[in-house]
Amino acid sequence: MSQALLFAEQDPAVDVLRRVFGYPQFRGPQAEIVDHVIRGGDALVLMPTGGGKSLCYQVPALVRPGMAVVVSPLIALMRDQVDALRQLGVSAAYLNSSLDWREAQEVERQIAAGALDLVYVAPERLVTPRFLELLARTEVCLFALDEAHCVSQWGHDFRPEYLQLSILAERFPEVPRIALTATADNQTRADIVQRLRLQDAEVFISSFDRPNITYRVVPKREPKRQLLEFIQTNHPEDAGIVYCLSRAKVEDTAEWLARETGREVLPYHAGLEPGLREANQDRFTKGEGVIVCATVAFGMGIDKPNVRFVAHLDLPKSLEAYYQETGRAGRDGLPATAWMTYGVQDVVTLRQMLEQSEAPEEIKRVERAKLEALVGYCECAACRRQVLLNYFGETLAEPCGNCDTCFEPVETFDGTVLAQKALSAAYRTGQRFGAGHLIDVLRGSATEKVGKFGHDKLKTFGCGTELSKQEWQAVFRQLIASGLLEVDHESYGGLRLTPGAVAVVKGGQSVRLRRDPAAGTKKSLREARARRDSGAPAALSEADDRLWHALKARRLELAKAQGVPPYVIFHDSTLLEMVREKPRDAGHFAGLPGVGSRKVERYGDAFLAVIRAHVQH
Ligand code: ADP
Ligand code: ZN
Repeated sequence: MSQALLFAEQDPAVDVLRRVFGYPQFRGPQAEIVDHVIRGGDALVLMPTGGGKSLCYQVPALVRPGMAVVVSPLIALMRDQVDALRQLGVSAAYLNSSLDWREAQEVERQIAAGALDLVYVAPERLVTPRFLELLARTEVCLFALDEAHCVSQWGHDFRPEYLQLSILAERFPEVPRIALTATADNQTRADIVQRLRLQDAEVFISSFDRPNITYRVVPKREPKRQLLEFIQTNHPEDAGIVYCLSRAKVEDTAEWLARETGREVLPYHAGLEPGLREANQDRFTKGEGVIVCATVAFGMGIDKPNVRFVAHLDLPKSLEAYYQETGRAGRDGLPATAWMTYGVQDVVTLRQMLEQSEAPEEIKRVERAKLEALVGYCECAACRRQVLLNYFGETLAEPCGNCDTCFEPVETFDGTVLAQKALSAAYRTGQRFGAGHLIDVLRGSATEKVGKFGHDKLKTFGCGTELSKQEWQAVFRQLIASGLLEVDHESYGGLRLTPGAVAVVKGGQSVRLRRDPAAGTKKSLREARARRDSGAPAALSEADDRLWHALKARRLELAKAQGVPPYVIFHDSTLLEMVREKPRDAGHFAGLPGVGSRKVERYGDAFLAVIRAHVQH
């Protein structure tokens, strides 16, 4: 390249972005952050999962002279990132407990020789005297502290080793530090600033909206069947995660789903033998279209970008947990779904767990409020995204148009009389029975239990035949959600009236209820259509669909040969660009987003051959 051409490239950061990563431009606040760090400033970056945090330090790492040190708490994450960087032709390595002595020595030798652009290290390794000395003899261009919320005891991923990272400010005052996290609450943020000594850092906060994720919550009827229908209709080939509360349910659901779909569905929970657990995670990241059924033990450290759905068969612990878990879908920005079933028993179970816990009262109070917010989200009749963002302190002015309540507005109606009947059934039976029995009483079902307690003699017996069992369940669910009924944890989940219920029973106060949407496929179809409009693979013509599958197959082959996940070769979005553009030569191929110069050299011919073969047919 001539000097003139070199100088024509005005911004070195944009040059690196295009040449190495193959992306035409920075996204959102990336440009500003990158610029700030390149100029030597400290930064705290709060960005949702999938927002593009990695580039915020990887680009400065390649622009500034010297080696960048990236602190990361998880071995799997480090490995993935290093794999991906090497595919881009970047000189990167990691140092953690998964390396043996000899391998670690080799990495240290490379550091000393100034041969690395980036090194990923575990926090406990970074703060050893040996490693700090090694760094002191090396030109370090920046420290990136990934998953910075791990420094906060407040958060759920607390890592005591992170506390020691404050030493970096003392030992390397001239080296810029950039801390990154997707956990944004005020307490965690304050902890990060204080504990990592980032008082002078510029804070960059992005919107936490994930517009490519469709949110759906469906009333629980036959949860497994509903899940199956959801997957078959919306994600018949896609990779996804199904969250369950218990290990037994994880195993059971995985087995059932594998049988019903004929697909690869793997269990994951803390009770599995470690080797098997790791193998299942590996098959998920390195395979195509694998489903994992898991407890919340699964997810941290998974940065597979093409997880197309996250399903919850049980309620998560809080909206924070829900947002984090569902955030694992659609990191690549392509359409993805967060789907959840929710029923009266979920609330009862969670309330019971909460009340029976040994936690001090002030903690319980916080947890009660969190559960209420979560239930409020499930029961909301307005746009789900508005409710979610509002919870995280953001306002979305207009309904999003990409959640179930936006697709199909929820009807609300005056449910005062129904509420009075339900409340009086609970009252007259002594406030110690669950919804199932109360519904039998209301509907006049002469069950054995009804007979045993003489509940067929009550005035309320049979006074509610106008609703089906399911409809009554929706009523009870909402009465609990709105705090008119509470779960009595001393009587195994019996329902008890709250002081607020008195005003309803006596007729002073009315109750509005939401009408659950009818079961069935109408909505799923509508969504499938919406999905098609948004340019997901479902939008492809038959011929293009064949090409898409052929490209995926070639990618998987190449990935397997190297033992890396397919997405470190090319993202789905890049394959989709290949389908759309059908490039004929390397020049054209190099222009696709996500194709850097090294990847044209390495993979151009392989993918061009697939495209050529398809275009000829
Ligand atoms: P995070 O760490 O914030 O969850 P990542 O850094 O993994 O997010 O980025 C999410 C995805 O977005 C990745 O697949 C990445 O390649 C892609 N990405 C990030 N920045 C850009 C950009 N400027 N242009 C195109 N794709 C981008
Ligand atoms: Zn919406």
